[in-house]
Amino acid sequence: MRVLLVCVALCGACGTQVADSEEPADPLAYQLTLVFEPRPLDSVVDVTMRLDQPRSLLRELRLRNDVRISRMRGDGDLIREESLTRWLPPDDGGTLQWSVAVPHRRNGDGYDAWLGAEFGLFRAEDVVPRASSRALKGAYSDTTLRFRLPAGWSVVTQYQDTGTIRVDNPERRLDLPSGWIVMGELGVRREQIAGMRVAVAGPVNHSIRRLDTLALLNWTLPELARIVPQLPARLTIVSAGDPMWRGGLSAPKSLFLHADRPLISENATSTLLHEIMHMALGFDSEHDHDWIVEGLAEYYSLQLLARTGSISAARHAAAEQDLADWSRDATRLCGGQSTGPQTALAVGVFSRLDAEIRDSTSGEATLDDLTRGLIARGELVNLQILADIATGIIGHKPDALHSGQLPGCRNISPTPETQ
Ligand SMILES: [Zn+2]
Repeated sequence: MRVLLVCVALCGACGTQVADSEEPADPLAYQLTLVFEPRPLDSVVDVTMRLDQPRSLLRELRLRNDVRISRMRGDGDLIREESLTRWLPPDDGGTLQWSVAVPHRRNGDGYDAWLGAEFGLFRAEDVVPRASSRALKGAYSDTTLRFRLPAGWSVVTQYQDTGTIRVDNPERRLDLPSGWIVMGELGVRREQIAGMRVAVAGPVNHSIRRLDTLALLNWTLPELARIVPQLPARLTIVSAGDPMWRGGLSAPKSLFLHADRPLISENATSTLLHEIMHMALGFDSEHDHDWIVEGLAEYYSLQLLARTGSISAARHAAAEQDLADWSRDATRLCGGQSTGPQTALAVGVFSRLDAEIRDSTSGEATLDDLTRGLIARGELVNLQILADIATGIIGHKPDALHSGQLPGCRNISPTPETQ
């Protein structure tokens, strides 16, 4: 009986697949098939982008030029301009190909993109230049990604685990792959945590703490899910040792952490949780307001540890004091990419803002409400947006955001509709 049930289930699955492939294609969808073929000994990835379309839907792709890209060639017309290359494909589609020299040093230090004989670790954005499209009104891409790998290699991305990968971002008409990719002879551990399918992946023979990482995430991600209700369905963490850059970097639904980084540093901050916060917050800041995203990521990486009891209240207080001491080296909050002292200063601002929101609302609201407001706002944030949302919560402009508290920031006043 059990055998029979399994058979029925399997046949059911087959039937569904057949039905799917027989569905008529949307007349406004054009097929983009990307194939990444790494050549480890040359540190090069060959990329093929094939366009199939029933008629002229995609009319032009504008790809940003990148010094790492060479040998770009394609069907139709290829027009090179100073900062971008324009591809005008034939009406029924065609193929565009290029090669990418992957290795890239971060600030002359370790590599934030790497491909060598043993493994590759880079972002999809490193091998597919950012692009915009000109297409028939309403047309959109149906994008898939495949890999042609050396024998014995496997690959982990932010997308589904095996087979042909569907790249689908409902917010975009032109879908191109994004996020961290690791390839080689890999060790991968997967777990379902707080509704997220988490993968920790990296080359075998590198001292990657896969289960330590999953343990820390089992403690902290449920709390993160309470702060940020709409977490992505998947989180992919890629890691490797040298010659990678010794830090952490986030990308869409994925992040990189050097294998030697502790999961929690001696000062009780966590690079891993800091990068996860960037991924969960999902917004960026306008020029000169980098302190907002960096400060929130750092503030919440400590909060996640404190609220879950991963660090004691005393250690949390000591960590905040360490940051307050460090922040004295900051001469300003606004301006440029947030330095360590600037971010430490920002953590203090958010701590005071949280206390003020709690006081003003008799504990009804906290900084978490403000953070959810920023996430709902999305895309780019700045001090004005931060102040407007805070004002909406407590009914007046918070003292914590008065210009005297924010060195180097221009004075702002609440916009009329939130007053
Ligand atoms: Zn950061």
